[in-house]
Amino acid sequence: MSSVYTETRLTSDHSARTRGVGGVVLHHGATTSVDVIIGLMMPGGRTVSAHAAIQDGRIVQTVPSNRRAWSLGDAYWDSWAMTCECANDAGAPSWTLSSATHESIAQWVASAAQAFDFYPRRDGPSATWTVIGHREVYTIHGGSYATACPGGMDLAWITRRAQQILGSGDGPGAIGGGGGSTEPTWAGYPIREIQERLGVHGYDTAVDGIYGPDTERQVRAFQAAAGLAVDGDVGPATWTALKKDPAKRDPAAPAAPSTPSSPKAPVFPLPSDWYFGPESGPRESVSGHHGNRHGTAAEMRKHLWRFQQRLEDRGWLFPLHGSDGLYGDETRENVVAFQREKGLAVDGLIGPATWKAAWEAPVT
Ligand SMILES: [Zn+2]
Repeated sequence: MSSVYTETRLTSDHSARTRGVGGVVLHHGATTSVDVIIGLMMPGGRTVSAHAAIQDGRIVQTVPSNRRAWSLGDAYWDSWAMTCECANDAGAPSWTLSSATHESIAQWVASAAQAFDFYPRRDGPSATWTVIGHREVYTIHGGSYATACPGGMDLAWITRRAQQILGSGDGPGAIGGGGGSTEPTWAGYPIREIQERLGVHGYDTAVDGIYGPDTERQVRAFQAAAGLAVDGDVGPATWTALKKDPAKRDPAAPAAPSTPSSPKAPVFPLPSDWYFGPESGPRESVSGHHGNRHGTAAEMRKHLWRFQQRLEDRGWLFPLHGSDGLYGDETRENVVAFQREKGLAVDGLIGPATWKAAWEAPVT
């Protein structure tokens, strides 16, 4: 497995595997540099890791393949997987991966398949696929957590290219073509049709076949209005709702209120002088990493995850790993921006006022 790597920069963030390797899980860190990704994996960062960090022909090994990397927030699936974290096309908008990065990922997948004796595949029942994206750990297996990761990475192309490298299969078509067809897809759904249907429902976005930030924003707006789970992602429920024609409104009927009423915030789960904040803070600063006299680490993490989900529902993105229930740089930056927008005291910490505002302040 060493031949495919161009460098080795090992992090100490890993642990023992508790089950055999069955396949690869691919991540997309929406950042433009492989060095930023590596920095996040080094001690003192977010205590996350993957086996490789990949961009444009550079494949850096960060965790030995016989160890379990910490990439899914789920020990069971972390143990099953070889994982890589990939950086954007340098200078491109978020969620764009270059063709050179796609090729590097395919090389790495083929090498993992060889080392652990599995065949790279995404056909047949999805539960048996050996090449999956982060969000599919959740959508197929119910593990990890809901996330948009790995964005528009062409998993079908990578799989077919890896098969070809291993000497089988016909090889892929164009990247973005879903591994052979010419129609770009997102989670299996044709992107142009998603964009056209958004337009039919009154959510205008360019029909360009690229699932970028604007399309994601319109999908979120559509989901919120349709009463669906708001994740900016197209799955079966959102697709079905998009395909339905919008109800024709009686022109004589009064217009619907333009903003839905704000829901009531759940009770702040800590004493009022405690807050969610950095792990390095005092006893009152709850990071999701540890338990305290008000609950276990898992309970603390769940509270923080719920807050992050709420921010995501309001359109704040956690592009590196989605909401993970842990307080890190990404959460702090979002909270600072949110507090500023809402005229709250700006400290980046989640106390009772910030918690309440996440539910009850109008979305602007
Ligand atoms: Zn991920």
